[in-house]
Amino acid sequence: MSRWEPRTIIEPFRIHSVEPLRITTEQQRAAAIRAAGYNLFNLRAEDVLIDLLTDSGTGAMSRDQWAAIQRGDESYAGSPSWFIFRDAVQELFPYKHVIPTHQGRAAERILFEVLGGPGKVVPNNTHFDTTRANVEASGATPVDLLVAEGTDPGSRHPFKGNMDLVALEALLAERAADVPVVMMTITNNSGGGQPVSLANLLAVREICDRYEVPLFLDACRFAENAWFIREREAGMGDRDVRDIVREIAGVADGMTMSAKKDPMGNIGGWLAMDDDELAEKCRNLLILTEGFPTYGGLAGRDLEALAQGLAEVIDHDYLRYRISSTAYLGEALDRAGIPVVMPIGGHAVYLDARALLRHVDPMSYPGQSLAVALYEIGGVRGCEIGTVMFGVQPDGSEQPAAMDLVRLAIPRRTYTQSHIDYVIEVCEEVARRAPDLPGYRIVEQPRMLRHFTASFEPLVA
Ligand SMILES: *Cc1c(COP(=O)(O)O)cnc(C)c1O
Repeated sequence: MSRWEPRTIIEPFRIHSVEPLRITTEQQRAAAIRAAGYNLFNLRAEDVLIDLLTDSGTGAMSRDQWAAIQRGDESYAGSPSWFIFRDAVQELFPYKHVIPTHQGRAAERILFEVLGGPGKVVPNNTHFDTTRANVEASGATPVDLLVAEGTDPGSRHPFKGNMDLVALEALLAERAADVPVVMMTITNNSGGGQPVSLANLLAVREICDRYEVPLFLDACRFAENAWFIREREAGMGDRDVRDIVREIAGVADGMTMSAKKDPMGNIGGWLAMDDDELAEKCRNLLILTEGFPTYGGLAGRDLEALAQGLAEVIDHDYLRYRISSTAYLGEALDRAGIPVVMPIGGHAVYLDARALLRHVDPMSYPGQSLAVALYEIGGVRGCEIGTVMFGVQPDGSEQPAAMDLVRLAIPRRTYTQSHIDYVIEVCEEVARRAPDLPGYRIVEQPRMLRHFTASFEPLVA
């Protein structure tokens, strides 16, 4: 008898506490976004219906995480919650030193303050925006060495987050002495949430070894990346995600981490490494701005919630649901003829705004235009990942980014399938109105990370 395989992959949890959503009209939203200077970061969250701005810190915690919060011990030094957290991290990432921080960028700031500096070059498959900003703030130069398939929205390559090995080798052959660390971002957030293969990680390690350069992971979505390895890489289909994660950890010398992603936290991060001397320098900086090394920037209860989150995120039922529910949104949009980055990544669906808004020049920010329309028309908040975020060059000039995308990031365990069906409808309506959407110009912007605070104005045709 053949075994029945249900078509519907259900949310592997039921709802235990609910938060109301405030329904608004298109007219109300048009007024709200105008008042926000057409910057979605500047909206009041209550004016957003479905918030897909980020998957960072926006997930729902489990019953067991809330229970763990009650166990939190707030001793200044040596809290039992610290040891529970440290052990949970080392269970997956067996590095000698674990340094807790309040979020990922604090770990990045500390690492690059120690390793960066003028004249240094930091290669990465693709720097996330805060990583890039922290490398640059140290005076060093970030370099993205993504495989060519990674910036081709139509390519179906299974590991579009991979590092371009030839380019890495060429860079190190010329400048290894100026490269303090090679970074690998898993999954590649800015490049579509695309995974890195284990084979690619091992090959990067081999190159780093030959040039004696350390390798660090920006491991925010390690569990999603490990699930893709299990699903897509030859010989991996029977492996436990825990083992794949431990193998990934073993390939690198250390990591930076935002615990607001796969560790299922609302806040948190860490820096981990084997090198004693580097750890000592990092701890000294930690004490200056984050806190004592057994809590970093976190409360004991946060450390407890994260330890429990780390145990939950590697569950296969969770990961199967997580990855297939993201694909559910992306594949529906693809079927509706809306250009999306394929294959669908782990935490988000990326709309190709440049392809959908062909009449808007990249220097008039098609991604911003699409993101504003999704909000006005449907109350859906996404995030421009394109020329607004990445267009400013180190010399201050501006160029089109490699792609103009709008990211719809899916918070973990937060929205149901009917919420996502609604998002699909909104995207279809926006696509119908796409030819009428305006370009934008920037009215005001800060010097760094401008996408967070810039204000915009629609261009009238
Ligand atoms: C979120 C993120 C960071 C920064 O972490 P924060 O907790 O937001 O400071 C760094 N790298 C990647 C890939 C991320 O997704």
